[in-house]
Amino acid sequence: MIEKLKDTLAGIKELELKYDHQIKEYTSFKIGGKADIFAIPMSVSALESLVKTLGDFQVPFFVLGKGSNIIVGDKGYRGVIIYTGELKKVIIKDNIIKAEAGISLASLANKALETGLSGLEFASGIPGSLGGALYMNAGAYGGEMQDVVKEASLLDYSGRRLVLKKEELDLAYRHSILQEKPLIAVEITLELKAGKAEEIREKMKDLNQRRKEKQPLEWPSAGSIFKRSPGYYAGPLIEEAGLKGLRVGDAQISEKHAGFIINLGNATAADVRELIEKVQEIVYRKKGVKLEVEPRFIGDF
Ligand SMILES: Cc1cc2nc3c(=O)[nH]c(=O)nc-3n(C[C@H](O)[C@H](O)[C@H](O)COP(=O)(O)OP(=O)(O)OC[C@H]3O[C@@H](n4cnc5c(N)ncnc54)[C@H](O)[C@@H]3O)c2cc1C
Repeated sequence: MIEKLKDTLAGIKELELKYDHQIKEYTSFKIGGKADIFAIPMSVSALESLVKTLGDFQVPFFVLGKGSNIIVGDKGYRGVIIYTGELKKVIIKDNIIKAEAGISLASLANKALETGLSGLEFASGIPGSLGGALYMNAGAYGGEMQDVVKEASLLDYSGRRLVLKKEELDLAYRHSILQEKPLIAVEITLELKAGKAEEIREKMKDLNQRRKEKQPLEWPSAGSIFKRSPGYYAGPLIEEAGLKGLRVGDAQISEKHAGFIINLGNATAADVRELIEKVQEIVYRKKGVKLEVEPRFIGDF
């Protein structure tokens, strides 16, 4: 079957294929093994054909944005990783932005700035794709995707298109319907407000400066490793439990921000997982709070 699948995939136009390909270079943590197949659709129609084919062949797949909120297992992924990073077309009309899901939030925020549109400043330092940000309802400094999303054009796992309005996307703290149902974000429509370029630029600069001061951006990581628990931020809890600097292999609780696990060079997914479990166990024992992991675990550990 694998040969027939390979032949069919090779027949899809505007689709790049790599076999037995390293995933870690496509993640912010720089951790993880190889994918059996790594597929890069260069257009939305290639993505549609790809998803339909994988459905027909019943092959497991994972949709990858910028890989900034995942922990990929050391043994990699059995199936197809679909990298969306080449889907980055944008159309701006008045205060409405329609963008393909693979564009980075940083470049989208810059385009909004260039057009004098305000509302995406909060997102300019979040290192993900638009699709990943919708999936996570990403947010920072008082802003969240749900403040700006109008609707999303999605693909189901059989390759059919559907459009869901903001109200139907079930957006809440680090949650969207994409986490519940097999749906792929293809194109997202945002509604922003007219603003002054100078003010937008200043706000973005200020937020990015604050991020740089607080977060260990000089090391690979997957951002905040734990979700905010009701009434608590994970970072201070971990710090109060005396865990800053705790290390398993090359995975370490950041000295700069205890909510981050950083990769000091050669951390494995197994190191990260062991460190997460240690922190959860100690924080629960000392503080009575069950910390929930934010990034997704992908593939074989
Ligand atoms: C240094 C650092 C700082 C961060 N700061 C913040 C922050 O301030 N606020 C915040 O909210 N997050 C933050 N994050 C986490 C991360 O950037 C966000 O969660 C981001 O939205 C993830 O997007 P991504 O494209 O990297 O998704 P990925 O990591 O590639 O994927 C995450 C999930 O989204 C799914 N997904 C991706 N694209 C699609 C698509 N097109 N359709 C369907 N599903 C899709 C994936 O399947 C996966 O389940 C930070 C991360 C780092 C490394």
